Amino acid sequence: MDMCKVNQPLYDKLQILESKGKEMDTMGRLKAMEGPLLFWYREHARSLPWREEPLPYRVWISEIMLQQTRVEAVKPYFERFMKSLPDIKALAEVTEDRLLKLWEGLGYYSRAKNLKKAAEILVSRYDGELPASYEELKTLPGIGSYTAGAIASIAFGIPVPAVDGNVLRVISRVTESHEDILKQSVKREMEERLKTVMPKEAASSYNQGLIEVGALVCVPNGAPLCGQCPLASLCLARIKGLTDVIPVRTPKKARRIEDKTVLVLCHEGRVAIRKRDDKGLLPSLYELPNLEGHLNEEEILFSLDVDKADVFPLPSSKHVFSHVEWHMAGFCVELQGKTAGEFLWVTAKEIRQTYSLPGAFKAYTKLIR
Ligand code: SF4
Repeated sequence: MDMCKVNQPLYDKLQILESKGKEMDTMGRLKAMEGPLLFWYREHARSLPWREEPLPYRVWISEIMLQQTRVEAVKPYFERFMKSLPDIKALAEVTEDRLLKLWEGLGYYSRAKNLKKAAEILVSRYDGELPASYEELKTLPGIGSYTAGAIASIAFGIPVPAVDGNVLRVISRVTESHEDILKQSVKREMEERLKTVMPKEAASSYNQGLIEVGALVCVPNGAPLCGQCPLASLCLARIKGLTDVIPVRTPKKARRIEDKTVLVLCHEGRVAIRKRDDKGLLPSLYELPNLEGHLNEEEILFSLDVDKADVFPLPSSKHVFSHVEWHMAGFCVELQGKTAGEFLWVTAKEIRQTYSLPGAFKAYTKLIR
């Protein structure tokens, strides 16, 4: 367990130096964050299920779930996952369909697949335990420098940084960095600097404190809440009025738009689903049959190679992935006579309980009863 020891004298010293107009250098400024940050974290840390009992497996699963997903959305998934797969051995042995069902709705399904691959390696090479080594953690599928740093510091107390988007934003503001935070080289440099200044005996609280300041105070969307920030006296972006321009990010490319026609294809009380390709977007997941473009009734029947069916329009829907947007038109197609295509015909109950269909199809799967 690490201790939230407050290094108040350093903080006071900084105030004196700054008031005399002698601006502290970047490393001095970073070093001076420790006291106020640890003090603030001790007072403001949110109570989260994985924080209550920071065992390596729990920290690992929570960190992977929290990538690209909000804390509140993760909580119920985390509890359900821990109940179903309480340890690394259970994760290594779970079937892919069961795993994806547990992950259904969280998105970015490659995260779940990498968890299983890593668990298999841990069982075969590490006796079913996560290694207490930052370097070894980084060799596991799905674990990059941030996640390795988070597991190493939070679960094992190893003094290594955990630099995610929150930390990049906070540090670039505090130090008035005009570098592009999406560049790997900028992230690596920040990791190096933080490794030098972070307290060896309080790595967990220090890393979590920085992440928490980024999540709750120096927020990702909207104006930062500088009036509540423990780093306000140190923060050059606040002092110089630069919070609108820092952090610097290169603009993202516009997403590609894909038009699709999604079919709720019904026959004798069952609905058609199929497995997606094992490469590309949403690999190996089940999906509702869908066709490229926005098709009309006649084109749908032609594509399905059936001539007798009742076709009803369903509401249109949109789903946004990181690089692509699906703009979907929907139809319910009640087949009469022969069935169409190579599909798996399942009941509504099986869709709910057994097969995982990505959230992209939610507007249509929720209509299946
Ligand atoms: S003072 Fe404001 S801009 Fe600076 S780190 Fe705190 S919240 Fe962010």
